[in-house]
Amino acid sequence: MSANPHPLPLSACPTCSYEMDAASSATDPSYRPRPEDYSLCGKCGEVLVYAADLTLRAADLKDMLALDDEQGRLLTHLQRTIRRERFIK
Ligand SMILES: [Zn+2]
Repeated sequence: MSANPHPLPLSACPTCSYEMDAASSATDPSYRPRPEDYSLCGKCGEVLVYAADLTLRAADLKDMLALDDEQGRLLTHLQRTIRRERFIK
């Protein structure tokens, strides 16, 4: 088994510079990221969005306003968990 079974293009978080090349879904383990999907930096919890080439960029105000209530609650919950637990030092 590969060390990274779900590789993505290498992206650096625009807030903390943490480099990511993998992702996992909070709700569906088999889901793979698509362009315009939301993500969170695993280190600092910044809200990110996948570009067409599946690299990550910071979410902007337009992205945040496009979230429905359930998506917003899930992102907030996960962001708080990442920031509280500090999974990645
Ligand atoms: Zn970050």
